[in-house]
Amino acid sequence: MYWEKEIETMDREQLERLQAVRLRETLERAKKSVHYGKRFAEMGLDIGGIRTDADVEKLPLTTKDDLRENWPYGFLACSRDELIRMHSSSGTTGRATVIFHTTRDIGAWTNLLARCMYMAGMRRSDVFQNMMTYGLFTGGLGFHYGAEKIGALVIPAGAGNSKRQIQLMRDFETTAIHIIPSYALHLSTVFTEVGVDPRRDTKLRLAFLGAEPHSEKMRRKIEDLYGFRAFNSYGLSEMNGPGMAFECPEQDGMHIWEDNYIVEIIDPMTLKPVPDGEEGELVTTTLLREGMPILRYRTMDLTRIIPGPCPCGRTHRRIERIKGRTDDMMILKGVNIFPIQIEKKLMEIPGVGTNFVIILDRADYNDSMTVKVEVQKEFFGGDLRQLEALRRRIVEELKSDILITPRVDLVEPDSLPQSEGKAKRVIDNRKD
Ligand code: ADP
Ligand code: ZN
Repeated sequence: MYWEKEIETMDREQLERLQAVRLRETLERAKKSVHYGKRFAEMGLDIGGIRTDADVEKLPLTTKDDLRENWPYGFLACSRDELIRMHSSSGTTGRATVIFHTTRDIGAWTNLLARCMYMAGMRRSDVFQNMMTYGLFTGGLGFHYGAEKIGALVIPAGAGNSKRQIQLMRDFETTAIHIIPSYALHLSTVFTEVGVDPRRDTKLRLAFLGAEPHSEKMRRKIEDLYGFRAFNSYGLSEMNGPGMAFECPEQDGMHIWEDNYIVEIIDPMTLKPVPDGEEGELVTTTLLREGMPILRYRTMDLTRIIPGPCPCGRTHRRIERIKGRTDDMMILKGVNIFPIQIEKKLMEIPGVGTNFVIILDRADYNDSMTVKVEVQKEFFGGDLRQLEALRRRIVEELKSDILITPRVDLVEPDSLPQSEGKAKRVIDNRKD
């Protein structure tokens, strides 16, 4: 059994006391690193004065730039001898950052992943196929260790090679998978191509979708295509990676594990906290990391705390699915647009296929947006008027949501580039 009842349902007051104790330990450790040692001295920070988790606001924020400037070892709070593992971010935005772990750190992280997967229903009788890139990326080894801890049979399939993935699922009767949502949609087209029906011909019952933003519609679409239940998994390498926040069986927001992290939502402009329920940038502090503690890390991810208790009984607060990163927001003719808004609309329209890409251009100081959308095979080779009607509908629906009129090009299934890792949704040609 991997249900840590005492911790998962701990009453809030007790949880906050635990956080305060762990925060003080974290600060003592952080002080030993070159970066925080210097920052605390500059700020004249007396860490003895930090008594409750409410004092966390007195601590310095940490950004990706801080990590880059201290590359590679400036955040270490222990000797290099104590480290056993290095990971890095996928480098979605510029140079990747590296994170180091001690034995205890890997143990704590593994624990969190086992807790998450168990919560979503994985058991030792499951056959778990991990379809994430192994190596530096945290989605491979992170889930791998967690699933082994539960005692499931783990198939470390790694990313890509779709036909082999399907073969593995069939031969070994895979019941649970970990997969990037955009790749799950793509893989469903390969299932069709090889004449295998995932609902009928596999034993799949559970999926963990992680590493990139996706809408509720997209989740439902994936669940429908495969006939399994899919759970949202969120994390970033600076905070270990996956295991940080995960959906429970209610599938209504992700519990973020407050025995391991202090959670704040701030206004990204004023950097002040916003009340529970309001949207802002997620900022988190590690509470159990020994090798490389990180304080008040600006994730750049936009979300909000879902107010109120979760019917499942867990007391750790829930964050809503990520709306986007502050740095993937597109500004077009003064309008702020997130790729996820486009995805959400597209997924509602029957006939739309499994992939799309947004292209931004500039001519004569005028910005324009083109959305290339894969549509289902039936639409090609058939009635052209039907295709045109679909195109117009997409234009109208997008316009009603993003308030500008995009150009929409319909393309055949599988004609847009498909990434094995995170999908690249936006191509911005506007740079001068
Ligand atoms: P990088 O910042 O280089 O992409 P990571 O590989 O650590 O580094 O990716 C972490 C980021 O991936 C998060 O900050 C978030 O933007 C995104 N992400 C991960 N999981 C999810 C998820 N379930 N929903 C939305 N976004 C996610
Ligand atoms: Zn819950």
